[in-house]
Amino acid sequence: MEKTKLINPLTKYYHGSYKWQPQEAPAVQAKMHPVPDCGEKSYQGFGRLKGRRALITGGDSGIGRAAAIAFAREGADVVINYLPSEDEDAEEVQELIAAEGQKAVLLAGDVGDEDFCQELVAKTVEELGGLDILCQAAGRQTANADITTLSTAQIEETYRVNVFGMMWLARAAVPHLKAGACIINTTSIQAFQPSEDLLDYAGTKAAIRAFTQGLSKQLAPKGIRVNAVAPGPIWTALQICGGQLKESLLTFGSDTPMKRAGQPVELAEIYVYLASDAASYVTGQIFGVTGGMFT
Ligand code: NAD
Ligand code: MG
Repeated sequence: MEKTKLINPLTKYYHGSYKWQPQEAPAVQAKMHPVPDCGEKSYQGFGRLKGRRALITGGDSGIGRAAAIAFAREGADVVINYLPSEDEDAEEVQELIAAEGQKAVLLAGDVGDEDFCQELVAKTVEELGGLDILCQAAGRQTANADITTLSTAQIEETYRVNVFGMMWLARAAVPHLKAGACIINTTSIQAFQPSEDLLDYAGTKAAIRAFTQGLSKQLAPKGIRVNAVAPGPIWTALQICGGQLKESLLTFGSDTPMKRAGQPVELAEIYVYLASDAASYVTGQIFGVTGGMFT
């Protein structure tokens, strides 16, 4: 049998510094340097999600896009939610998924709007004929170094999108989920090791962690699993449109034990695992993919 080659994780992906490249939020990842690697060329599926129907928020770019590509290559049909200004990224994902022979439906809209969340789940069920996996990766992040200038508008918007939206979607989805279905949320290293300039964001990620664990207990008797992924610094569009202050962006990820930022593709397998039957005894868990920081 041919041996698998050992690959050094420190140098497996881009490990240099980053250029300052601000964009309006939400940023389009197609315009980033380097473009985040979401597994477009590398992710290989093994039929682990054949016939599953998934709703993925934030599926146009970054971590959600990596999950969307991986789910489709594992045989799932997907609905991708994102914001209308991100059409360019979303259409690329749709093309990639169509090339796998799977269905990819684009449903743009704001998850910070309660009615839209209800509608998004209803349309997903209509388009895919049901819902087996709710994968939530939508999120917003704006760095601010001084609490005396942290606006109420920013605090409200961060909580509205990251926490309220996530709860509204879970609430709308649960009536459609059958035993064997699952919810996967996206928290952060920030829920465990909050940065001094991400006060509102870190709070939302701690809320996601608590919600995930509480809901997992509520839904376990129905055979529905609820878990979350806690990424460390991952090179995505979120970081260049206000997510990091300039000094932190230039050296993004270099303060982790792995000394580099991660790429979205490095999270794909964990989302697939949590969505698949292989994780049948796994619920209420938070999975760190952090370059060595402790969650
Ligand atoms: P990203 O910008 O590529 O993805 C975030 C997506 O959120 C956007 O593409 C956008 O479609 C969506 N979004 C934002 N506001 C929305 C709204 N109001 N309605 C609907 N969709 C909205 O960045 P990413 O880093 O891949 O982010 C994915 C998730 O990972 C987020 O929840 C983020 O908080 C989390 N996360 C990221 C990092 C990191 O270092 N990149 C670390 C920890 C956690
Ligand atoms: Mg995006």
